[in-house]
Amino acid sequence: MNYLDNCATTKPDPEVLKTFNTVNTTYFFNPSSPHGKGLEVSKLLESARDQIKALLGLKHQTVIFTSGATESNNLVITGMARSKKQFGKTIITSKLEHPSVLETVRALEEEGFNIQYVKFNEDATLDLAHFKSLLNQDVVMICLMHVNNVMGAVLPIKAIHDLIQDYPKIHFHVDCVQSFGKLPIDASLMDSFVLSGHKFNGIKGQGILVFDQLVTITHTLFGGGQEYGFRSGTINVASDVALAKAMRIALNEQEALVERVKKYKTQIEEAVRNYPGIRVNSVPDGAPHIVNLAFVGVKGEVIVNSFSKRGIMISTTSACSSKRAKLNETLTALHVPETAITGSVRISFDKYTTKSDIDAFLNAFDEIYEEMKELLIK
Ligand code: PMP
Repeated sequence: MNYLDNCATTKPDPEVLKTFNTVNTTYFFNPSSPHGKGLEVSKLLESARDQIKALLGLKHQTVIFTSGATESNNLVITGMARSKKQFGKTIITSKLEHPSVLETVRALEEEGFNIQYVKFNEDATLDLAHFKSLLNQDVVMICLMHVNNVMGAVLPIKAIHDLIQDYPKIHFHVDCVQSFGKLPIDASLMDSFVLSGHKFNGIKGQGILVFDQLVTITHTLFGGGQEYGFRSGTINVASDVALAKAMRIALNEQEALVERVKKYKTQIEEAVRNYPGIRVNSVPDGAPHIVNLAFVGVKGEVIVNSFSKRGIMISTTSACSSKRAKLNETLTALHVPETAITGSVRISFDKYTTKSDIDAFLNAFDEIYEEMKELLIK
């Protein structure tokens, strides 16, 4: 099997699993318990939090442990919007966002918020002029992703940060799920951001929400008041300590990983670029671990099945939206023609991806192209 769907999820690192098991075995206690073991495990939790702060270069920021990016995005977007309601009702986001952002802002629209979607240029870069035109005194929040999970397009975080300096009411929230471990993250440019462990060889169901400062937001989860009141529920210390471990490993290995996967990306894009009926959707200066190709005129699901039958696991768009009947909103927002959208597939790498995975993909590509070539729109 050749696994090339690492944007959907990655294989947990054995070291991370070991940490998870050790903590669960030796320190299974509740960190909120007042006894000695409770205090011990509470110290362990706080040392994991401190490690994460050091790894991300955080100073005054607050790290909140959650079950992943979906929960983190929901908590911050809904909580922040509701607490800022009296100051303004406009939220700027984009059609490229993950459903955990898009569906949350759509729900807020029902509560009376005005949602504005920033446009993209033909080359997949954010249309900064359009972004600028959307800014006004009613804007209370901006929710955008650092690296797009379908195309790999990278957000100009610094440019956005600079543009909103005249608008102190705006909370700038960034989904850094696909960028952590692949691109540098500058926490000082954002008011909040989220990470998800299973995208960088951690475990599913672990994530963080980072706030620039401990702000007062409307809580959406009620209970015991754990995690500064943001995230009630018994704390999963084993998962949180394992997340710190996954982050440390990912950052240690980032440079080597990026160098390797960049070559894989170039190798695939160059190998297929000149085949009539094939369109390379991913952009050259996009994230290094994501390739997006279209078999123009053929359904993406058919292509994914053909690769899958040959033992190669790739994806149509994103795992979270691939089951939806509607055309992929991301590619539409990026001006990809409709026939190329339906035939789009995503190939994504992680630290376990090898040269032989790429060779296997390219061999299968040749066979599938031969089978499909009469059907492709050239
Ligand atoms: N944001 C992005 C960009 C993602 O790719 C994903 C995972 N597909 C999420 C958020 C949701 O993350 P989680 O699985 O941790 O809820």
